[in-house]
Amino acid sequence: MREPNDPHMAASQWHNWAGDERCTPVAIEHPRSLSELAGAVADADRRGLRVRVAGSGHSFSDVACSDGLLLVLDRMGQVLDVDRAGGLVRVQGGIRIHDLSRRLQDHGLALENLGDIDVQSIAGAISTATHGTGARLGNLSSQVVALTLVLADGSTLECSPQGDPDVFAAARVGLGALGVIAEVTLRCVPAFTLHGIDAPAPLEDTLERFEELARANDHFEFFVFPHTSTALTRTNNRTERPPRPRSRVLAYASDVLLTNRAFELFCRAGRRVPRAIPTLNRIVTRLAGRRERVESSAAIFSSPRLVRFTEMEYALPRGHTVEAVRRVMDCICERGFAVPFPIEVRTVAPDDAYLSTAAGRESGFVAVHMYRGMPWEPYFGAVAEIMDSLDGRPHWGKRHFHTAATLRPRYPDWDRFAAVRARLDARGRFANAWTDRVLGAPGG
Ligand SMILES: Cc1cc2nc3c(=O)[nH]c(=O)nc-3n(C[C@H](O)[C@H](O)[C@H](O)COP(=O)(O)OP(=O)(O)OC[C@H]3O[C@@H](n4cnc5c(N)ncnc54)[C@H](O)[C@@H]3O)c2cc1C
Repeated sequence: MREPNDPHMAASQWHNWAGDERCTPVAIEHPRSLSELAGAVADADRRGLRVRVAGSGHSFSDVACSDGLLLVLDRMGQVLDVDRAGGLVRVQGGIRIHDLSRRLQDHGLALENLGDIDVQSIAGAISTATHGTGARLGNLSSQVVALTLVLADGSTLECSPQGDPDVFAAARVGLGALGVIAEVTLRCVPAFTLHGIDAPAPLEDTLERFEELARANDHFEFFVFPHTSTALTRTNNRTERPPRPRSRVLAYASDVLLTNRAFELFCRAGRRVPRAIPTLNRIVTRLAGRRERVESSAAIFSSPRLVRFTEMEYALPRGHTVEAVRRVMDCICERGFAVPFPIEVRTVAPDDAYLSTAAGRESGFVAVHMYRGMPWEPYFGAVAEIMDSLDGRPHWGKRHFHTAATLRPRYPDWDRFAAVRARLDARGRFANAWTDRVLGAPGG
C-alpha cells in the first residue's frame, strides 16, 4: 500500500479523464486477485479508512474520488468463464469494455448495446447506469445477471435474482456505495454486424419524427449544435451484410484527425473568441457529411474521444425529450451561453435496478457538454432547471447539482436502495464526499 510519505507521493494523486476532479487518497492499491482485493478492503476497515474504487476515471464528477483507500482494478481484467451456448460470460470487474468486446468476438459473442466510448471498466460503467441508445434496449447494467461484491469486512457476497432479489436490484447500479464489484456475469448476444448511417437532417423534422425514428431503428440518436437548425443523425441497424472494416489509416483519418483534432481546433477558437461560436457551430455542422459503414457492433458503437470536456446528462420520461431539446436550444440563445459542443439525444428502455436512471420508464436522454477551460456551471445550471421541471434524473457519472433530498422523490425505489445500503455498509465504509452529498449517510 502506498502511504503519503512514500517517495511516489505523486502517484497517490488521482484525477478523472477530464482532469478537473482530483483527489489525494491516503493510499492507492491495485489488487491482482479476489483475495488481494478482499484483504485490502478488510485492512482498510481495520484502519478506519473509507474505500472507493476507480474504474477508468471516465466519470465527470467526484463520484470515484477517495479520502481513504482508492482501489484501482486495472490488474483484475480477466475473462473468467464463457458459456457460449447460454450467452453468459463471467469477467473480473476491472476489465475494460474494449478488451471485453475483443474477447467476446473471439467467442462469436457481443454486448447487445454500448455507449459512445469503450474505455470504461465494466464495473464502473454498470455502477453508474452507463447506456447507449436504443428504444428497445436497456442500459449496460440491465445485461448483468450476477455479480460478486466484496463487502466492508472483506467478505464476499454473490448477488443474483435467485439469491436476494433486493440486493441484486440495488447492486446493479450501486454507485460504488455497497461494496466492490469483483466479478460480473453478463448476458451476451451472438456477434452481429451493424449498418451505420450518419446523416444531417433538418432539426425540426427530426424532432417531429423523434418517436417514430427511435422506434423504427435498432439504435437512433442525434446531435445538434446550438444556433443551428440541422440535426446530425446517427442510425445503426443490424444487417446480414458482411462487415467491411475500415483500414487503420482511414479510421485514424476519420475518427482522430477529422472528428477529434479538427473539432479541437474549432473548440479552441470558440474558447478564445466566444462570440464566434454560433458561426463556428454552423461551419462544423455544414462540414459533417453523410457517412455509411458496415462493421462489427463494437466498432460502430464506440469511437475515440480525444477532446476533453465536461458533461451533464438527464434521463427524462421519453415523451418529454423533444420539449427538453427545444427548451435547451432556446435557453442557449436567450441567455447567450457560449457553447461549442452539440446537444446529444438518445433513448433507453426501462429496467428495474433501483437506481437505474431508466428505472421503470421509457427514457429519452439529453446531454449537454462544455469544452475544458470554459465555464460550465451557468449553462448546466440553466439546463438542469429545464430537466428538473420535466421530471429528469441526472446521469450518475456526470455533473449535476442534486442532493439526496432532491433525488429521493425521483426514484420510486430510493428507500429500498437505502435499506440495502444500510444492511451491507452500515458504517459507510464505501462512502466519499460524493455519496455524502448525493446519497446521504447509510441509514440516514
Ligand atoms: C468521453 C466520455 C464518453 C462517455 N460516454 C458515455 C455514454 O455514451 N453513455 C453513458 O451512459 N456514459 C458515458 N460516459 C460516462 C461513463 O460511462 C461513466 O461515467 C462510467 O461510470 C465511467 O466508467 P469508469 O470505469 O471510468 O468508472 P469511474 O468513473 O472510475 O467510476 C464510476 C463509479 O463506479 C464505481 N466503480 C468503479 N469500479 C467499481 C467496482 N469494481 N466496484 C464498485 N464500484 C465501482 C466508482 O466508485 C464510481 O462510483 C462517458 C464519459 C466520457 C468521459
